[in-house]
Amino acid sequence: MKPSTRLIVLGREARPGDGFVNPPLVRGSTVLHESVEELRARQRRRRAGDDSGPVGYGIEGTPTHQAFLAAMTALEGGHRSWALPSGLSACTTAILAFVRQGDHVLVSDAIYGPTRDFCLGRLARCGVETSFFDPCAGARVESLFRTNTRLVFFESPGSLTFEVADAPLLAGLARRHGAVSVVDNTWATPLLLTPLRLGVDVSVHAVTKYIGGHADLLLGTITANEASCAPLRETIGALGLYASPDDCWLALRGLRTLEARLARHRATAERLIDWLRAQPEVERVLYPALPDDPGHAIWRRDFAGASGLFGFALRAGNGPSAIAAMVDGMRLFGCGFSWGGFESLLIPSHPVRSAAPPPYPGRLLRISAGLEDPEDLIADLEEGFGRLRAANAAADPTRSGGIEAEGGSI
Ligand SMILES: *Cc1c(COP(=O)(O)O)cnc(C)c1O
Repeated sequence: MKPSTRLIVLGREARPGDGFVNPPLVRGSTVLHESVEELRARQRRRRAGDDSGPVGYGIEGTPTHQAFLAAMTALEGGHRSWALPSGLSACTTAILAFVRQGDHVLVSDAIYGPTRDFCLGRLARCGVETSFFDPCAGARVESLFRTNTRLVFFESPGSLTFEVADAPLLAGLARRHGAVSVVDNTWATPLLLTPLRLGVDVSVHAVTKYIGGHADLLLGTITANEASCAPLRETIGALGLYASPDDCWLALRGLRTLEARLARHRATAERLIDWLRAQPEVERVLYPALPDDPGHAIWRRDFAGASGLFGFALRAGNGPSAIAAMVDGMRLFGCGFSWGGFESLLIPSHPVRSAAPPPYPGRLLRISAGLEDPEDLIADLEEGFGRLRAANAAADPTRSGGIEAEGGSI
């Protein structure tokens, strides 16, 4: 089956027999057993690592969790998936599961900020050391491996600076050095990138973003290949991590329309990018689907498409107060965290780096292209750039409208 058909049928196989299209939303803690013997047998199976058969307690997941997770496992081409209470908890748990005191992890410099903070804070205090690598370093990452390197974590493309990492190469290096590879696959969703098929061991999602798609839930998933399941199962069980079945039910609903939404998000992003690239204040747009983007070749090789989240850098001279004047007055673009919902967002972004300075010296902004009509969004941006120019001109009256074409390379 093609991906768009799979999005429609997955998670609906176990029909309860009532004829309704969607699986029921099941909440629950206690599961009743027919006998003490049955209760004991389930406990024994579970302790032995056998998760097949009916669950013995709600924390193992209700049929609603199972329907959503079965769909995620199939889409990612993995062996098993878990639902976590947020994207961040999926990232941190996927790291924690594979390390112990004295270990070393390699982490891309372009990952989600709070995951970086976890590595530098909580993980460091548990005696696990982190080295950051340039996501574009390719085979040079190999020189950073140590005998105690247990894990390589990356996000591709990075959700602020949009560098594309070479996933098969990083996965191969990790395997050669006895380490597990983990990717934060949120930007692409399992529809546009299936990292496990490229050799990566574990794929993590902030379902909060495109899969949820409506800015109304927080949820994460971890999907692993067979060899990587045991430490995840043990860690998630030990920590007692559990996601709401209501959120899993909404996420399954989100999957049904994911392909249609992503196509529209991308088309709108590309229309906005065309317009932005014609503005003299815009230094460059960061979006791997652009043929002149540094990550384009790897993106074309590995990805089945692009989503609607991209960045752009403004030329020097567009200061924070002028940018605030632009962002504050937007009518359709909201100013807030998260992305991937039906509504457009525009925020200034400030990447933090350890391995190398941030790749773009200018001021960065990020757009999540929503499902509004693109022409309405461009009208909003036009007024926003008008406010930016007016603020620049007020700050420096010798400039007319703040337009500086440097080197004619617009
Ligand atoms: C938002 C995000 C997360 C965290 O997801 P939450 O559900 O908000 O905790 C992790 N990784 C990436 C790439 C994200 O964009």
